[in-house]
Amino acid sequence: MSRFRREASDILAELEQLRAVDAPTHGGRVLSYVYDSGMPELDELAAQAARLVQPVNGLDPTTFTSVATMEAGLVGFARRVLGGDADVVGSVTSGGTESCLLAVKSARDAWRAARAGTPRVPRLVAPVTVHAAFHKAAEYFGLALDLVPVDPITGAVAASDIEERLGDDVALVVVSAPSYPFAGLDPVADVAAVTSPRGIALHVDACIGGFALAFWPDPLPAWDLRVPGVTSLSADLHKYGYAPKGVSVLLTRGRDRQRRQYFATTAWPGYPVVNPTLTGSKPAGPLAAAWAITEALGDDGFARLTSQVARATAALRELVDGIEGLHVVGSPTGPLFAVAVDDGVPADRRVDPHHWADVARVAGWHLQLQPALTQSDGTRLPHTTHLTVTPVTEAVLPDLSAALVAAADAVRGEPPVDGAALLTGLLATLPGGADALAGASVGLDSDTAAGLLGAFGLLGGSDAAGALPERQAPVLALVAALPAPFTERLLIELLARVVEPRD
Ligand SMILES: *Cc1c(COP(=O)(O)O)cnc(C)c1O
Repeated sequence: MSRFRREASDILAELEQLRAVDAPTHGGRVLSYVYDSGMPELDELAAQAARLVQPVNGLDPTTFTSVATMEAGLVGFARRVLGGDADVVGSVTSGGTESCLLAVKSARDAWRAARAGTPRVPRLVAPVTVHAAFHKAAEYFGLALDLVPVDPITGAVAASDIEERLGDDVALVVVSAPSYPFAGLDPVADVAAVTSPRGIALHVDACIGGFALAFWPDPLPAWDLRVPGVTSLSADLHKYGYAPKGVSVLLTRGRDRQRRQYFATTAWPGYPVVNPTLTGSKPAGPLAAAWAITEALGDDGFARLTSQVARATAALRELVDGIEGLHVVGSPTGPLFAVAVDDGVPADRRVDPHHWADVARVAGWHLQLQPALTQSDGTRLPHTTHLTVTPVTEAVLPDLSAALVAAADAVRGEPPVDGAALLTGLLATLPGGADALAGASVGLDSDTAAGLLGAFGLLGGSDAAGALPERQAPVLALVAALPAPFTERLLIELLARVVEPRD
């Protein structure tokens, strides 16, 4: 007799039903979020490794010494392939965001320590294409975020534009290898050449690209810890390390610099606390999975998967660039790229990248829509569609290519959604019209925000997730048309309502 209230098989059957409605994590149909090696045996190994350490608490690697051994091994692997010498140390974190947060915290604390008692607010300088995790880090840790505009056509940043921003209040400069939005490989060595003489810390965010670029088949400009002025580097194992979610590494040059990442206290009546990362108790599963995967693949395995990715990326880029009305943004490096409208053809031959993605989605291919953005210098970055390529993409290239061409044919000539017009129309339907919106945007409460989402057709019924719209182009156009703080508040409400407790 089972001591469970429900049969395990019944519970798991329910979970399988829930999973069946998820976007597919395998098979290459989702070109963001998931990184499918195309090797089921690797997933199985990762699952078994995670299972073995399931009860372990990663909080204390002196009690659970398996954690120490695996972490030392994994950081050693990362340090070697990412160009670190014996002066480079590191930590395994729960993901890219945590690695980025910790890099900022350490740099802030080093900056403060060198200016004891300063009341000044430290500044974080980065190209506007830097990952949003650094916006979060600046907010969490009290730095002013100083975003440097990039070339609106190529998405590339000039090292000289970063140099102009440098001063004694800069605690950290962040560059990407490559950036998420446009896959631009920032000029790491040129930036290091201006930060290093000034003693300014330089972080390379290689969260997405690190473990792919490290094995990239084509020669690349120096971008990793081989560049002497790079003081820290983040790379996610749950991206091109093919591990399940929850694992990244943060490498730091210099033990003293890295120790600022830690938190320790004995000033409470409980156990002495020493945390290298943001968490206290933590799972060892993602660490064990990532460790097992790197042990199994070795450099040769990574190189093989990476050449698959590189071939598929080159083929897809060529295909998309060849589609009339679309073009690939800038000079992407690594396994991702963004696609914008080609303004060089007549309007009736243009393909709006968001309509394109919406049609591709109906055919079962999930591309990621990225909004337009006005930079601080007034120039506007176009709205784009993002594709992240994984080893499994190569196997589905013929189907994917056909779907992308067909989707472009289906929407060619269709103008982009006019966000401003859409907004005016929506406001007309709101009780109170535009005034209601203006009033609401000051300290929007949850119920008002939910009401607006309902009026916008983005929320309704008891199953909030089910009410999400089929087409995302209008949503992204609204995001671009509404004031950012207002949209941010609405998005918070949307995500919160999706997980509203159910009885
Ligand atoms: C994914 C990513 C991050 C954040 O990582 P998460 O694992 O999603 O927390 C940071 N920087 C870049 C460039 C990324 O692609």
